[in-house]
Amino acid sequence: MHKPIIAGNWKMNKTPEEAKALVSELIPLVKDAKCDVVVCPPFVDLCPVHKLVEGTNIHLGCQNIHWAESGAYTGEISPKMLLAFGVEYAIIGHSERRAYFGETDEGVNKRAKAALANGITPIICVGETLEQREAGVTETFVSGQTVAAFAGIPAVDAVKVVIAYEPIWAIGTGRTATDEQAQEVCFAIRELLRREYGALISRKVCILYGGSMNAKNCAGLLAQPDIDGGLIGGASLKPADFAVIVREGSRE
Ligand code: PEP
Repeated sequence: MHKPIIAGNWKMNKTPEEAKALVSELIPLVKDAKCDVVVCPPFVDLCPVHKLVEGTNIHLGCQNIHWAESGAYTGEISPKMLLAFGVEYAIIGHSERRAYFGETDEGVNKRAKAALANGITPIICVGETLEQREAGVTETFVSGQTVAAFAGIPAVDAVKVVIAYEPIWAIGTGRTATDEQAQEVCFAIRELLRREYGALISRKVCILYGGSMNAKNCAGLLAQPDIDGGLIGGASLKPADFAVIVREGSRE
């Protein structure tokens, strides 16, 4: 089994100076973590945050990654550029990228393959809308997104992928999935991976829950058997709250 991962998605928040202040406050609070701690600041903050987290137990992630090495892709960032800043994880296919910037399952797959080819761990986000949940198609939809994300990824790489199940209706809304709802979908994702890649690999893939996880509700979610950590938005901007989630994720 993979060590739990608690990852913070800072989204489009914090200037470089503000990012330095946030991470400086966080470092001592999470230094004894037994889980993997990841922060994913905006691209312009990667350099200063990298300098501060180097030599600590905090890993650096980013919020997207392009598939090409270089070229005419205005506004995009290549894996090689991210590696230069010490990036180890890349959030891919966040629902905000899919909804506001037209990211497709095909693009998510290409970005994930590029990350893997460069030794960067993809954190692939999947999740249903409220309408889909109410229509009873959550598992079908999330399975479809997961299958598309893993298309053409061999077992040797699949095991390195992190999936974040993030119901869209729970992101930034303060409305969290219940422990049971989150576990049910994470279990379905693991079952799908078992069918595609076998039991050993499916057990090793880290499946996170994301969607209004906070210091108060994290214990129940992180205790679920198929939830191996969290992707945290709002609460990752508050070091004390994020540290509580990290402590909860560190429980054996
Ligand atoms: C996210 O953006 O990945 C997320 C889970 O946000 P929040 O925790 O704010 O719902």
